[in-house]
Amino acid sequence: MPLKVHPDIASLSSYVPGKPIEELQRELGLARVIKLASNENPLGPSPKALAALSEGTATLHRYPDGGAFRLREALADRLKVTVDQVILGNGSDEILGLLARAFLAPGDEAVMADQTFVIYKMEVTAAHGKPIVVPLKQWRHNLQAMGDAITDRTRLLFLCNPNNPTGTMVSADEVEYLLSRVPTHVVVVFDEAYFEYVQNPQFPDSIAYVKQGRSVIVLRTFSKIYGLAGLRIGYGVATAEITNFLNRIRPPFNTNSLAQRAALAALGDDEHVARSRAVIEAGMEQMVKGLTALGFAPIPSEANFVYVDVGRDGRAVFEAMLREGVIIRHIEGRMVRVTIGLEEENREFLAALKRVLHPH
Ligand SMILES: *Cc1c(COP(=O)(O)O)cnc(C)c1O
Repeated sequence: MPLKVHPDIASLSSYVPGKPIEELQRELGLARVIKLASNENPLGPSPKALAALSEGTATLHRYPDGGAFRLREALADRLKVTVDQVILGNGSDEILGLLARAFLAPGDEAVMADQTFVIYKMEVTAAHGKPIVVPLKQWRHNLQAMGDAITDRTRLLFLCNPNNPTGTMVSADEVEYLLSRVPTHVVVVFDEAYFEYVQNPQFPDSIAYVKQGRSVIVLRTFSKIYGLAGLRIGYGVATAEITNFLNRIRPPFNTNSLAQRAALAALGDDEHVARSRAVIEAGMEQMVKGLTALGFAPIPSEANFVYVDVGRDGRAVFEAMLREGVIIRHIEGRMVRVTIGLEEENREFLAALKRVLHPH
């Protein structure tokens, strides 16, 4: 008998992650592979997090603290909110799923940009909601149009800031204009996975909107600047009313004990964060200069990656770069996204790209 899968699930295709380094090494027999595909921290994890991890292994027979009290307390202290306003997820990805399941009844709408982080559409569809997709304007969220897209059925509005894959941001003024138009039955999701990299003074203080009691949630992660993507841990900050609903469907041990320990240590490692920021700042300058010299116009980015029109089929460029041992990300059409790496990784990326573009 054929499987009777829900049509919403049947409509989805699997998420395609950045290719792992070992897989490409195996496939092409390459000794050295550079991965600039998943916006990971090229310096690796905080050394303090690594030390905390080894200390945590002796108690692995115990269940983790399901409430993750110490980590939530440290986050609450740092952000000047209460502990019950902080929720942890198995990566902030998991919190996106909790939001979709908590707030969307079948047919309810969630407003999001195109292009933006692909997980929003996936989670909304999986929760039987309806993604309402609003095109970017000059590579940035079009907050006017997103505000216009809100209806009585809207429950969620996703604002990826800075936006993945474009690296662009929306300012405090623009966000406040949007918030002034958003009815209280809509939860605005500020996905700030790259928050710690942003230097622009116009960037909104989204935690302040939480403190004002607005219906917003701010999502951040330990996967990016903190260098802990493999451990899977991220957090949300919202009104206690919102976190209370999410906690009702959160799996009780959704973040593991090692992830909680490592995240707590990484949060206190200001030196690692500062060093990571400096590497990306210098690397961004190097990449933009190099890409410009090759005749491209990378979109100005606030994050640790650049989005660039390579002037030809981006998939072919992505595949040719794989044969050079460099993993980047093809997004669509002529657009590729490249994570900023270490100085020599950026240099090798630019040299490989030059060989791919001018093979003779
Ligand atoms: C990387 C990323 C995340 C979250 O990643 P987790 O590893 O699940 O915490 C969330 N949103 C965006 C836009 C990202 O790029």
